[in-house]
Parts: sequence; C-alpha cells; structure tokens
Amino acid sequence: MKVLFATSEIAPWVKTGGLGDVAGALPAALRALGVDVRVLVPAYPELLQAFPDAEEIARPHWLGGLLPTPAVREALAPDGTPLLLLDYPPYFNRPGNPYLGPEGRDWLDNHLRFGLLSRVAAWIGSEASTLAWQPDIVHCHDWQTGLAAAYLHYLPGAQAKSLFTLHNLAFQGLFDHASLFELGLPDAAWSMEGVEFYGYLSFLKAGLQHADAISTVSPSYAREIQTDAEGMGMAGLLRHRAKHLSGILNGIDTKAWNPATDRHLYRTYSARRLEHKAANKAELQVELGLEQRRDLPLLAVVSRLTEQKGLDLLLEVAPQVLKLPAQLVVLGSGSHAMEQAWAALARKHDGQCAVTIGFDEALAHRIEAAADIFVMPSRFEPCGLNQMYSLRYGTVPVVRATGGLADTVTDAADEKHGNGFVFGPATSTALLKALQRAAAAWHDPRRWRLLQKHGMARDSSWAEAARHYVDLYETL
Ligand code: ADP
Repeated sequence: MKVLFATSEIAPWVKTGGLGDVAGALPAALRALGVDVRVLVPAYPELLQAFPDAEEIARPHWLGGLLPTPAVREALAPDGTPLLLLDYPPYFNRPGNPYLGPEGRDWLDNHLRFGLLSRVAAWIGSEASTLAWQPDIVHCHDWQTGLAAAYLHYLPGAQAKSLFTLHNLAFQGLFDHASLFELGLPDAAWSMEGVEFYGYLSFLKAGLQHADAISTVSPSYAREIQTDAEGMGMAGLLRHRAKHLSGILNGIDTKAWNPATDRHLYRTYSARRLEHKAANKAELQVELGLEQRRDLPLLAVVSRLTEQKGLDLLLEVAPQVLKLPAQLVVLGSGSHAMEQAWAALARKHDGQCAVTIGFDEALAHRIEAAADIFVMPSRFEPCGLNQMYSLRYGTVPVVRATGGLADTVTDAADEKHGNGFVFGPATSTALLKALQRAAAAWHDPRRWRLLQKHGMARDSSWAEAARHYVDLYETL
C-alpha cells in the first residue's frame, strides 16, 4: 500500500502544534507496518537547510489558475521516511512561521501557498504525475491540504483515494470567492455541496466534503464535532458524513518523550526510579527563579495561549491556586493580551510563579519532568499531546473532560485506573475544585505514586494508532 502524506508542518523541522508532531512520527510507525508512506511538505528554510542535497525529481506544470510551477525534491528523513519537498522559494522560503508573517498576521497569499501544496498532492495522486511512485491514497491533514480532496474530486485523471484527517476544526482556511479562480477550481465547486461555506471558500470544508474518508484525532472529538454546540458550523456536514468519519487517538513520539533517556532533563528517571524525578523539580526551580520548595506541589502549563486552551480560566483563579499553596510554571505563546496577563501575574508573584513567553522545546521537556501537576483546562481539545507526555513523565494531569483529554485521562475517583483529575464545566470554579483535589492528593504520597504509576504504564506509542490507520486505508 502506498500513501502520500500531505502536510504543512513536520517535526522536528517545522512545528507549530500537534499536526507537526503527528507528521513527524506517524509515517515511521506506518512504515513499520509495511505501508510505503512518503511525506509531501513545503520546502521551508529549515528543510532546505536540513536537506541541502535534495534532488529535483519532478516539475509539475499547468496546475491551473494562478498556481506557479514548483519543483518537487526528494530527501530521506533520518527515520527512513522519504520526504517530497515542495520547492517554490517565493512561497515557502520565508523566515518564521509557516502561516504568519513577522507582524503575526496571516501571510496574504496563504490560499496560493497551501493551494499549491494541495494541488501538487492531488497531482501526485493523478495520472498527470510524472513520478515513478504512484500513491493509492492521498492522506491530507487540516485545512492546509483539504483542497487536495477537492482537486481529486473535480479534476480528471484522479487515481488515488483521499483521506482527510482533522486535527482542529477551528482553523477553517477561509478565503474569498475570487480565490476559486486563482486556485484553478471549476465554477461547479462553488456550491453548498462543494467548497463554498457561508460566502467563503473553505479549504477545511473542501476536505470534509470531498475526501473519501474523514478521520479525526480522538473518538470523543469525532462525536463532539457532530453536535451543533461544538461543530463550528460544520456539524451538519459532519453528521451527513458520519458513516465515513472515525476517531483515531494520536500517539506520541515515545523516543523523544521518554524520561529514561531524555537528553533535555537534569536527571533521567523511570517508573522504577521515580525518586530521581525530584532532582528535575529542584533544578527547574533554580533555573526559573522559583523558591526551592520541596513541600509545595509544582503546577505547570505548556501551551499555545489561546481561547481554545482555557488558560483564562486558570488566570482567573491563579491567586487562589498559589494560595493552596502551590507553585506555577507557564511556558507558552499566543495572543498578546494573554501573554501580557501571564507576565503580569508572574511579576506579582515573583518566586512562586514563573512565566516564559516563547516556544522552547527543551524547556517544555524540563517542565514536564519537573512538575507534579500538569494543567489543561481546554474548552475543546481534538486530541492533545501534553497530557500524554505528562502521563509518561509521572506528572499528573488535571484536564477538562473534552475530546482527547477525556479519552486519555481517567479521574482519580477510579482507584483502579485513575491517572489524573477530570472536571466538566468550562468554568474557573470547576477548574479550581479539580486543582484543589489534585493538590490534596499530592500531599498523600502513596496515593500520588499510584496515580503516577497508572499514568506511566499507559501505552501512548504510535503503533496502536498506526494499526487503526492501516485498517482505514484498507477500507479505501
Ligand atoms: P495544539 O496542537 O492544539 O497546540 P497539542 O497538545 O496537540 O496542542 O500539541 C502541542 C504541541 O506543541 C506539544 O508538543 C507541546 O509540547 C508543544 N508546545 C506548545 N506550546 C509550546 C511552547 N511554548 N514551547 C514548546 N512547546 C510547545
């Protein structure tokens, strides 16, 4: 079976969130099961630097609309996954974020940039392709490649089936009507049964509408997005496509996130050597200027600072949380207002609360290892990775019961399986209550150890998820 992964980010080179992690790890897990996966990804500066010798293997012409002629270059990732780098420097050889310009606003030509990515994915899956390698399935991810399913649907000569994996319904890739022509899509695509969405062209809807199958990254999220309350305008379409929609829980990169071998840690540890975790807490307290207190639980957040993640709820009750008493460490970046609010809190509670604004992979690892409690009060969470890292690092998660958080964290009330603390309503009161329960449990070392052990015993590897994807590929 041959599968083309089309993605707009891939760890460890270019990552802004969970999609990058998935694209960086799932292909190797699928290859281990015998699927010939290759990954199509834009040749961003980081990838051109990592693979300076990537050879040109194709130059797709006449892609339609205003789409230019890019080159496709081939490289081999260290894990053995072939990469197809979509090279068109005016679009992709830009500094910074794949989606945002230096001022933090979307690049103005994002429709063309990701339209080109989608179009080339479809080209590789059609008879027009000049590549020797022909995929059976084009597996697209999120709005950035959603249009690939539409191209395969509308343009002649499609050979591959399409699977669209939804990592986040909130990003819908909305552009104005004129982009239909610029992207080389036929007028027929502009309809309710096509790519039109309330007067806009939606890349996301294109994927949901036209892919032969849809998956999302947890079973709970697959159910939630079919409700009007959480469907973000797409619920009707998702209910209509329910037969072709499934939820497959993400795995994590268990090599990169392994407390026994993690090079970023002050001290490695395992479930059998859990006492060594404490050294990480002591060192991080020094690093971040916190008081060196072993007698206080250390709470942590590593997250995008956006509405979705519910960290405004934590901000509201932070003074009470610190009075539990507890210490709080936050690493994140996002909306300017949130960044400011968190920074102000840290200034007010110097020594007890440390806030780092930015994206720092190594620090994220050290925080996971150092913290006692990890907080994720997300309003919605398609899958979420940090709670799985936390479980593996013996850092007990406190989460809202939504999406993948609900599918991975079991409340401590279940003495046999409990590995965290779960709360329902998206309110600061409910969050505070859960944090109070967690802090109380932390003061009972035997009980705490049990929660940690349950979490650390959970298998979060990609192998299980990969098996589900293979089953899904087979149905196609
Ligand atoms: P999302 O994709 O919605 O942002 P996930 O939990 O699925 O949320 O994935 C987020 C990923 O990004 C995790 O690997 C997390 O550790 C990482 N991450 C988020 N913010 C930061 C940050 N400020 N510094 C380092 N890593 C971060």
